Amino acid sequence: MLCARDGVSEGTEITIPYPCDFHHHFRQSTLVDATVKICSERFSHALAMPNTSPPITTVELCQQYYEKLTSAAQATPAGQPKMEFLSVLYLTDNTTVETVEEMAKHPNIYGFKYYPAGATTNSAFGVTDFNKCYPVFAKMQELGLVLCIHSEVSRPEIDIFDREKVFIEEVISPIVTDFPTLKVVMEHISTSFGVDFIKSTPGDCLKGSITPHHLVYNRNALLVGGIKPHFYCLPILKRESHRVALLDAATSQSGKFISGTDSAPHDKARKESDCGCAGVFNGHNAVELYVEAFESVGKLDTLNNFFQAGKDFYGITGDRKMTLKKESWKVPANYDFPDEENPDRAQKLIPLRAGEDMLWKIV
Ligand SMILES: [Zn+2]
Repeated sequence: MLCARDGVSEGTEITIPYPCDFHHHFRQSTLVDATVKICSERFSHALAMPNTSPPITTVELCQQYYEKLTSAAQATPAGQPKMEFLSVLYLTDNTTVETVEEMAKHPNIYGFKYYPAGATTNSAFGVTDFNKCYPVFAKMQELGLVLCIHSEVSRPEIDIFDREKVFIEEVISPIVTDFPTLKVVMEHISTSFGVDFIKSTPGDCLKGSITPHHLVYNRNALLVGGIKPHFYCLPILKRESHRVALLDAATSQSGKFISGTDSAPHDKARKESDCGCAGVFNGHNAVELYVEAFESVGKLDTLNNFFQAGKDFYGITGDRKMTLKKESWKVPANYDFPDEENPDRAQKLIPLRAGEDMLWKIV
């Protein structure tokens, strides 16, 4: 956990336009009610990830899922604004140009999520060779759709800490060169290589989203003093110099870096395992962590620029406001969520910073 070097005093309040989360895993089944409720306390809009099981590869599946999320949001107490959702389809080697044309007719569908096959949770149906997607990219560019990319190679010979750097060289760089007006988000960037590539790419079509956990933690959180599976995520946490580069990028007011929490619930038993799965759950404290990170470098005044950059890119408007106060609160040790595969069973979910103090509170 960071120390606030340039911290403001206890009791300080800041008011910002309601943030949006441009990368959120709501999952499926009865779990959706729990994830939507907790996310809606912090974000006015969220872009829902399509790596469900089965993955959301068609407009029909996408609209069914959108209806499910929207109806879960109706449970928000009367008089409070309902959360809204942005949808993306799961890109595969077999996605057709006709699908792109069809999805462009639906205002809630913003584009595609590109998972390299095998890169992360439920990515087995992902892209094996990006060249196969060139006709789809051309049509997306023409229609103004967004390509959200999990920017890591998944070849076994590439070190897990180098996956983003190699992906930039082998995949992102050619795509951005060949489709200069295609709207692309390198999601959850985790290295200075991602930061530098985005900064050096001319124009306004390439953005990088940054998670709260990549701003607040380095790989020591995962590996020092015993292995801590609840800090295991993909992209994996990197060394401190990369965290500093990400924080510098997020607070730079360049308009090139946007919010995206990658909040991903997993049952405690699946995390604390001899083959623990990847994913950090931060749906309960993501905005507070962003505030804490910005405060740690004395850049609270740039926070809204960071949140606004994503809204401008996706065309989101709204006039809700959020006030946060510098006041500590303790994160619960766990949440009881329904198990998505067996709704009669509760799953224990260990949230980010479980049992520890947060510095900022939404009031
Ligand atoms: Zn994700």
